[in-house]
Amino acid sequence: MKAVVYNGPRDVSVKDVPDAKIERPTDVLVKITSTNICGSDLHMYEGRTNFEKGRVFGHENLGKVVEIGSAVDRIKIGDMVCLPFNIGCGFCRNCESGLTAFCLTVNPDPKMAGAAYGFAGMGPFNGGQAEYLRVPYGDFNCLKLPEDALEKEDDYVMVSDIFPTGWHATELAGVQPSDSVVVYGAGPVGLMAAYSATLKNASQVMIVDRHPDRLRLAEQIGVIPIDDSKSDPVEQVLAMTNGRGADKGCECVGYQAHDPQGHEHPNMTMNNLVKSVKFTGGIGVVGIFLPQDPGGPDQLSKQGEIPFDMGLFWIKGQHIGTGQANVKDYNRQLRDLIHADKAKPSFIVSHRLPLDKASEAYQHFDARDDGWTKVVLKSSHTP
Ligand SMILES: [Zn+2]
Ligand SMILES: [Zn+2]
Repeated sequence: MKAVVYNGPRDVSVKDVPDAKIERPTDVLVKITSTNICGSDLHMYEGRTNFEKGRVFGHENLGKVVEIGSAVDRIKIGDMVCLPFNIGCGFCRNCESGLTAFCLTVNPDPKMAGAAYGFAGMGPFNGGQAEYLRVPYGDFNCLKLPEDALEKEDDYVMVSDIFPTGWHATELAGVQPSDSVVVYGAGPVGLMAAYSATLKNASQVMIVDRHPDRLRLAEQIGVIPIDDSKSDPVEQVLAMTNGRGADKGCECVGYQAHDPQGHEHPNMTMNNLVKSVKFTGGIGVVGIFLPQDPGGPDQLSKQGEIPFDMGLFWIKGQHIGTGQANVKDYNRQLRDLIHADKAKPSFIVSHRLPLDKASEAYQHFDARDDGWTKVVLKSSHTP
């Protein structure tokens, strides 16, 4: 089968690899029809993780079930399904509590909780930027899609990661109706966090970025764009909130945060959030931070540490929630919002390209080229 293979830093190509297949009786085999390129793929693409050469990328996957293992009960051949990017077992203590991003059994590394498709450090599973994907524990992990699956495919594929992840940022921050919310980062996840805050009836949603295409999209959904290349974003947020700061804040950038001049500061967004959020406010962090970053700009960040403004954070009595989204905690509900025409997350999609074009799509998305806000790769053979 064809798949997007990582060859080394900033080098991917579509190659023939061995077919994904049923390996255990609980597996489901999915013919992928839509698979997104994600901002977290870029950390791996840029060589800033230990992602192995020769592995297949892709953790935002949707497709049609073409084969099921002998122990699969609920999922049937022909079902259209969306796959959470995290792979859970369904029976460990964390999965049973809904914390499927921290499954205790699927990742063979005993020091790590949580597994995902085509993701550094999250188990040996190949990604779905390919013709087929093996889904472990298919009954647990597959989200069945309703009859409008084909018509709304670009919406439903966002339920694999970025829509639940954006939603999770607002949950971690504790967003309530009528809150003012500031989101740092207007990439796909940041836009989904701002969109989620809007769906939760926040009274004021602001988003900080500097790319005009992203800020335009934010404006389209009624979010206030804040351009941090024009002036200090903290000052802008304070000016819009009577000097108090936003009730809640979301971090949707991660450890490769950089200033408008292109210099990397892994602590930039976190410290800006502490300053931008009110006393006793909440901060949700879904941007990726890693325990080690050998390519980091200084000694501290190489060890996964940042100079954090602990004093101001403490004196303001704020709280922080962090980590990957437990996609299964939200994906049914978000699917139903899409089905009922209450949510349309595909507004962020800028490019629909065949899998064969993955290499150039990665280049453009990685360069944050104007207009490349979100890429959906389409299998060349629709089922
Ligand atoms: Zn993703
Ligand atoms: Zn589990």
